Amino acid sequence: MIYENILEATGNTPLIRLNHMTGPEDAQILVKFEAMNAGGSIKTRTALNMIEAAEKKGLIQPGKTTIVEPTSGNQGIGLALIGAVKGYRTIIIMPDSVSEERRKLVRHYGAEVKLIHDAGNIGKCIDECLETAMKMAAENPDVYVPQQFENEANSQAQKEQTGREILEQAGITIDGFCSGIGTGGTITGVGEALKEANPDVEIWAAEPEHAAILSGGEVGTHIQMGIGDGVIPAILNQKIYSHIEIVTDEEALETARELASKEGLMCGISSGTNVAVAKRMARKLGKGKTVVTILADTAERYFSTPLFEGQ
Ligand code: PMP
Repeated sequence: MIYENILEATGNTPLIRLNHMTGPEDAQILVKFEAMNAGGSIKTRTALNMIEAAEKKGLIQPGKTTIVEPTSGNQGIGLALIGAVKGYRTIIIMPDSVSEERRKLVRHYGAEVKLIHDAGNIGKCIDECLETAMKMAAENPDVYVPQQFENEANSQAQKEQTGREILEQAGITIDGFCSGIGTGGTITGVGEALKEANPDVEIWAAEPEHAAILSGGEVGTHIQMGIGDGVIPAILNQKIYSHIEIVTDEEALETARELASKEGLMCGISSGTNVAVAKRMARKLGKGKTVVTILADTAERYFSTPLFEGQ
């Protein structure tokens, strides 16, 4: 089979059992390995769905429209990839606290990067990124801002693609699902798909210790990039999860390192967060049950971060 372009190779990522990270009395954990998407993360799916939804509505046109998006990383890489393939000028606005690899990847796809200084509050910085994007849109009618935090096409991609794939690939009852929250697209979309298949599925949210906003905590700086952006996103279905677990940076790092060294799964820090919570859930649900979570991106965009410290 020949793909017409790299975008067609997005999705249909493998669902993989963890073999060395649960105890004999625990539920099994299955992970959706999103590093294998074109663009190296789950966010290529959502970026593509948002762009194609806007194209269908006649809102944007290659060669004419400039796509501008505030993002803490992977969504920007996905949009830059799409811009390269489809012929859109793309400008990504991101906090200067996200990993240097993210900026380089965006630029390598031929897109432009605008950095906004993060003075220690990621939520405030993301707000400033959004203000900059909206100002550019106000000044130029050919600028389109997908606005992943409020664009329904984001959670729709997670429901109709990621969620549906998990159900088809597992072929058994999914008893538990957990995920960190960036835009909330993943937990909302996948959560809704799994709940439609099994109304009793238990869904837990994960928050970084220093951005546990849904748990009423303060927002500071953390390294679990892609989640805990310090905002409560408009597309987040706050009724989809029954419980919130908090994860420290240390536990997220340690778990992400174990995923590589024990399971051969090269993934980012938020994947460590997700699996740390999946392990707690597997312990609670117990033997015979199935817990699913997401490994959102590849470890290879974290060389400059504490994930690879000392290596
Ligand atoms: N992990 C990483 C590495 C991400 O880039 C994102 C996207 N922001 C997420 C997790 C969270 O996904 P969502 O935006 O769907 O909540």
